[in-house]
Amino acid sequence: MVGILFSRSKLSHLQKQVCSHIVQGIRKETSKIREEWESSLTGKTPTLSENSDQDAYCFELLSMVLALSGSGVGRTYLAQQYPLLQDLFSLLHTGTPRIQRQVISVLRRVLPEAKPQTLASILSVPNLPPSEYSIVSLASREDDNEVYDVNKPGILDVLLACIGKALTVQTKIKASGPQKGVTSMTLAECQLDSKSASSTGSRWWMRGKMDSAMANKIISLIQDMASGLLSETWATVTKAAVAEAILALTKLDENVRAPQTCVKTPTMWLSLSSLCVLDQDHVERLTSGQWVSSPNGQHGQPRPTCDNHDDGETQAIILCTECGNLCADCDRYLHLPRKNRNHQRQVFKEEEEAIKVDLHEGCGRTKLFWLMALADSRTLKAMVEFREGKQSTAKSGLGVCRFCGTSSNTGLLAIGNVCADTECQEYAKIACIKTLPCGHPCRGIKDEDPCLPCLHRCGKQETLKQDADDMCMICFTEALEAAPAIQLKCNHVFHSHCVRSVLSKRWVGPRITFGFSLCPICKATIDHPVLRDLLKPIQELFEDVRRKAMMRLEYEGLHKAEAITTPGARFYQDPAGFAMDRYAYYVCYKCNKAYYGGEARCEEQAGAVEEYDPQELVCGGCSDVSRAQVCPKHGTDFLEYKCRYCCSVAVFFCFGTTHFCNACHDDFQRITNIPKLELPRCPAGPRGKLMDGDECPLHVKHPPTGEEFALGCGVCRNAHTF
Ligand SMILES: [Zn+2]
Ligand SMILES: [Zn+2]
Ligand SMILES: [Zn+2]
Ligand SMILES: [Zn+2]
Ligand SMILES: [Zn+2]
Ligand SMILES: [Zn+2]
Ligand SMILES: [Zn+2]
Ligand SMILES: [Zn+2]
Repeated sequence: MVGILFSRSKLSHLQKQVCSHIVQGIRKETSKIREEWESSLTGKTPTLSENSDQDAYCFELLSMVLALSGSGVGRTYLAQQYPLLQDLFSLLHTGTPRIQRQVISVLRRVLPEAKPQTLASILSVPNLPPSEYSIVSLASREDDNEVYDVNKPGILDVLLACIGKALTVQTKIKASGPQKGVTSMTLAECQLDSKSASSTGSRWWMRGKMDSAMANKIISLIQDMASGLLSETWATVTKAAVAEAILALTKLDENVRAPQTCVKTPTMWLSLSSLCVLDQDHVERLTSGQWVSSPNGQHGQPRPTCDNHDDGETQAIILCTECGNLCADCDRYLHLPRKNRNHQRQVFKEEEEAIKVDLHEGCGRTKLFWLMALADSRTLKAMVEFREGKQSTAKSGLGVCRFCGTSSNTGLLAIGNVCADTECQEYAKIACIKTLPCGHPCRGIKDEDPCLPCLHRCGKQETLKQDADDMCMICFTEALEAAPAIQLKCNHVFHSHCVRSVLSKRWVGPRITFGFSLCPICKATIDHPVLRDLLKPIQELFEDVRRKAMMRLEYEGLHKAEAITTPGARFYQDPAGFAMDRYAYYVCYKCNKAYYGGEARCEEQAGAVEEYDPQELVCGGCSDVSRAQVCPKHGTDFLEYKCRYCCSVAVFFCFGTTHFCNACHDDFQRITNIPKLELPRCPAGPRGKLMDGDECPLHVKHPPTGEEFALGCGVCRNAHTF
């Protein structure tokens, strides 16, 4: 139909009529879905479910729109349907996931055709952000004195809100008292006490939550917009809008800076969202220098006067490497000529307005004197730390715990600058107490040679990509400097105790997987000399699983499978990776060796196992109840049992009598109560289901379902079947 509609370069009257019907249809559906969304927010009704007839009509209409947007004529037409654009943004927040996905696809195609100015008026956004968004140009603009309105929406807020509603935010208060601990919350949770749509004004979509898959799609949409993939105009507006949302934090009034108030402002959440889509341009253009009020402060410098005025009283704002200290007027005037425009300039601000923006390893961060906020786009975790008072006084050295920052004059801090807190005392036991050549204390661990590079990035530390204020990406609750840290072989830095805990806890669930042993940032294998005690057994287990999986791959004749031999395939020339992904192995509780428990996809179908008793994981050799023959070639190393209740390889051995596969184990209460005669015959699927056909998936003759059966040596058995 779409082909016929848009095969020409202009729309006929009939075609226009069909389109306007679709647009009207969407309008009706949108308001219906919004109503249901509103009532689901108040908890009166459940949220709309996907693939129900509730969302089906809207989904079909959007499929038409998506098809229309495939042609140039279609995109131009759609971009002019202002009510439709409005509806799309509404559905983005209220629709079911499949509707949201369609909306995002349509937006990707239609936005390049829509002018930012038009979109602004559709979304009742009063003005676009200044395209010259760097704080240097903002500082030299005259009308910068306008009062900041917390409720004034920005052009991209409707998209940024999608990210904000998926964030988990930890808040911390760094104060002088012994107030440790963090609170964790989502936007939806901190709105619980603000009643209705009226509290968010025109930004009604700031309410509710968004799932993380959708937030990730929005993150990549905004990143593509910023990189110019949609259009150059949108690239400029997007970067400026992200900058605007971040700078908004500096404009927050003193009375909303109190933690409990601040976390409820849209400003806070939108700026955290912006940190997820930060790019390197922002880092340089948004960071300011800082004047200090006291002339003896160690950081920054006292505020100078304008060199150009030379009257000894007009205060400078901008420091230009060529022209010296300048006030806003002189800066504008001197840098007007084209030849002067590439001068290196930096804005200097009072401590109250100074801002520092950073982007380290995908984690965006902004620092003001009263707050530090950071957000990680990959995990959608964010962190807001409220700082009390002026930093200049707190930094004065004596009486501040080197880990938690607590300051006190009780004398407890006298030894090594560590407070009495048990955690800090534990950290102190493993911490290095040396002072680095730059004068900063070493933030590494004891007896390491050489010491951890200075986390304040003193000197040229090429290998260091993080700094003292960055969160440890494992715990995501404390800054790197808050506990002794180590730099792994891949150069990433984490708290020593966090890495150790990850390596000790190992994988989640019964099946052995090795994802935990990779760096959370770059996925290189975790390695550091002090971790050898933990890494050695992991390495041995890895080799054991690898060897067994490779052996099985060969016996099954899959070592030349397409997935391994096709260039570009996920496991191209990586048979071991393929085998370990394909087969599921478990650690035997008795002999501590890895044993085979079926193919991984069977386990995935059975669903995630949340709770299990590791004592029930026993290999064939150690659970040889029927005294199966020992294989003359392989002993009991590869001895496998059949699940008593179906034709799958067993994983669990329970009650000292019974072998179960994953799925049957999950459902054991029901299955073990089915009378033996009512159990399905071979071929029997998991959970007592009958399978099609008459070939046993294990390719063996075995006693009826409900009886124990040793499959024998897995290696030899499979060798026979192929
Ligand atoms: Zn402490
Ligand atoms: Zn050290
Ligand atoms: Zn240093
Ligand atoms: Zn940590
Ligand atoms: Zn790494
Ligand atoms: Zn065993
Ligand atoms: Zn089973
Ligand atoms: Zn069977």
